[in-house]
Formats: sequence, C-alpha cells, structure tokens
Amino acid sequence: MTEKIRVRFAPSPTGFLHIGGARTALFNWLYARHNNGTFVLRIEDTDRTRSTDEYIDAILEGMKWLGLDWDEGPFRQTDRFDIYRSYADKLVKEGKAYYCYCSPEELESRRKEAMSKGRALKYNGKCRDIKEPVPGIAPVVRFRMPQEGQTIVDDLIKGSVSFENKQLDDLIILRSDSTPTYNLTVVVDDVDMEITHVIRGDDHLNNTPKQIQLYKSFGYPIPKFAHLPMILGSDKARLSKRHGATSVMAYYEMGYLPDALVNYLVRLGWSYGDREVFTREELIKYFSFENVGKAAAVFNPEKLLWLNSQYIMNSSSEKLAELVMPFLMKKNVITEGQDLDKAWLSKAIDTLKERSKTLIELAKSLRYYIAEEVEYDEKARAKFLNEKSRDMLVELKDGLNSIGDFSETEIEKLFKAIVEKHEVKLGKLAQPVRVALTGGTQSPGIFEVLDVMGKEKAIRRLERAIEIIEA
Ligand code: GLU
Repeated sequence: MTEKIRVRFAPSPTGFLHIGGARTALFNWLYARHNNGTFVLRIEDTDRTRSTDEYIDAILEGMKWLGLDWDEGPFRQTDRFDIYRSYADKLVKEGKAYYCYCSPEELESRRKEAMSKGRALKYNGKCRDIKEPVPGIAPVVRFRMPQEGQTIVDDLIKGSVSFENKQLDDLIILRSDSTPTYNLTVVVDDVDMEITHVIRGDDHLNNTPKQIQLYKSFGYPIPKFAHLPMILGSDKARLSKRHGATSVMAYYEMGYLPDALVNYLVRLGWSYGDREVFTREELIKYFSFENVGKAAAVFNPEKLLWLNSQYIMNSSSEKLAELVMPFLMKKNVITEGQDLDKAWLSKAIDTLKERSKTLIELAKSLRYYIAEEVEYDEKARAKFLNEKSRDMLVELKDGLNSIGDFSETEIEKLFKAIVEKHEVKLGKLAQPVRVALTGGTQSPGIFEVLDVMGKEKAIRRLERAIEIIEA
C-alpha cells in the first residue's frame, strides 16, 4: 500500500500572509493535490504577545483568495497546550528531558560570556543530573540532546545535510510558566497530525536536527523534509518591504489575479523546462520536488506584472467583468450598488483586456465607457479639439445621427467619406474623435470604441467637444 501523503502549512499569526508564506503554503498544497493527499492548516499561535486573531483572519483570507483550500484545520496550538505538556512530561519521566533551575540572570551572564569570547551559545548541562527539585524556583524543562555522533537531515531538496550533535543545545521545551516552545510543539503536532512531509522555508533547516532528535526520543518515525530555498529581492538581500509589496492581499488591492500570483509564486523555486505559464491543473500534474532548485529565488515584480497581463489577456471577459466590479467601485467609476449590464461590460472589456496589466488599469480605462461625462487630458484637448478638427467632428456627429445601423462597418464608411472629402489621413479624424470620446489619446481602435459606447453617448460627447471648440 502506498503511503497516504499528509502535509501542513503552519504559519505563525504575527503578520499578514506574505509572499514567502504563501509560497510555502502553495508548495504544500500542490504536493498534497498532486498525490491525492491531505493538506492541514495549523496556526502556530503560541507566541501570545505577537499573535492576533486579526492576523489569523488575514492569513485565512489570503489563502482563500489564492484558492489554496485546506482539508483539515485550522488547528490552533493554543488549544493544545495540555497535549504538549503531556509529551514533555513523558520525556521527563523517561529521563530524556530534565528540569533546569538555572536562573535567567545566570543564563544571561553565560550568554554574555559566550558572546564576548565569540563562542556559540550552548547550555552547559549544569542541571542535567539534578535529582531533587530546587525549592522556590519554577524550572524550565530541557531536552537531553545527544552529544555524540551526527544527525543527518535527508532533505528532498537539499540532499543529505549533516549536523554534529555536539553543536546541538539542550533546548528548552517547556518554559517556567509551562508553556511549550516551538521545537516541541512542531514535533508533537507533526506526530499527532500524522504529517508525512514537512515542507517549509530553509530558515528552519537548523531546527531540523533538533526536531529529528525529538522524534527519535518519542520513538516516532521521522517525516520527510523539504526545505525551500529563500526568496531574495533584486539586490540579493532577503525579501522585504523595500523590494515592493510583500503582503499577498496587497496584490489583490493592486488588481492582480490570484491565478497569476499562484503561477508566479510556483516559479520561485520550481521550474518545468522553460515554461512560464501554467494552469492550476498543469501545476498539480507536474509538481515534484525534483524540479525545485537549491538556489535562492529572486523576486521580480516586473515579471509578476507581465504574468498578470497574460492572465488578464487570456481570461474570459465575463470573468473579468465580475472581478473588476470592486475596482470600479473603489475608483468611483460606479457607485455602491450600481448595477451594470454584464453583457455590455464584457463587450467593453473585450476591447481593453489586451491593454490592461491589472484590474485597476482595466477599471480606469472602463471609466470612459461608463461615466456620464468624459474627463479630458488637458494637453490632448488643446492639441486635438480645436478649429482644425471642428468641421470634421460636426460632420461625423451629423453622420452618426443619421446612420440607421450603428455598426463598426457603417461607422467606418462614414469616417472614410469624411477624410476623403477633407483629403486627410484617417488619423487626422480618429485622434480628435478619440479625445472627444475618451478624453485621451490612447484607446482601443476608434470604431470599436464607438461600437461599445453606443450612438447616444458618442453623439453627446461629440457635441460637447464641438461646444468646447466653439466656446
Ligand atoms: N510557524 C513556523 C513559521 O511560521 C513554521 C514552522 C514549520 O513549518 O515547521 O515559521
């Protein structure tokens, strides 16, 4: 029987879901989906001073937006303190962990000494053999770390990484207030939740030998590990706000599509030949750790923007019509509760999606189709709405008024007739019309614009342009 794969994403809710966390969640999700396994969500909220419910909600919101659905959880570690304590007690009973009565002051002075001598900080084992409790002192519980030999981390990405046990500390697993520490909770949970593969950022690689020793002391099988390479900014420093937005939901706000961000995130470490664009189904089908590189990945906002433009271009206009609604509201193109004919909106989007890199850009361009009044770009107005274009605009307005069939073909015929009469190139008419209708000099083809805008609005805008010229 093949093993049933179980993986987990275990964020600490001390901030929003950020790019690095989302990439970890995604790789777990893909591995679970690829293998028909189970994806567990676990909230590591034991740091009560820094964890908040607001951040938990924000993390869940980010995962939902990215479409990373989980099968079990969210479990919260703060609901599980009794479980951790019982595991720690078991280790103490078996002599694999011990009470340490060293005072914080004592530990602090040893830490300073180690620092001043440039030595790595390591507990000196003073309380290892204490048999009797020391009255008046609430002890911590320390794990008796083996000091001989080596611990090998057999990593699916990094290969075999060896650690000298004598470098490993007798780590604290329960604090003096009997709250558990990270290395204990993570091992207990991964055991309890039957996690088969621990997939996380390689900033945790140094914790792994300690955790392996904990698994061994409990007598549990050791899961497989996959430590993902770091994500760096363009200057090769660890990714931070300096390099652009790092919160996942900031990308929602900026008008990115979740599929584009997912596609981008997967390429931070994973590759499949030289392909860049994948559907979700393809990602699930092709994902494996063999194609995850060892080298750090560099976050490139321009590439993400390019991918987003590809996704917008290739999305159905009906879907974009749904997605753009909140942005139309945010940009005050429509008012709250205002409804738009979705078929018409899709037709308008047909003309714009190849030229919009984000939903925000799309919403901004839709303004000239939707708004009652056009807002002119001053320079464009001065250059194109003047005596030179006046007669042609009047003729076009009259012509549009009298054509029965307001179709692209008929409109085009009318344009041709006018430019022939005035012996000018098409652009000499198209550009003033563009400014009259959209307010600026850049838009989709002018016949398409007229077709989407409709007869009434187009004529109204031409009239206004003529008035302005004559004023
Ligand atoms: N809570 C840890 C973190 O957010 C993750 C621990 C793990 O994946 O083992 O970094």
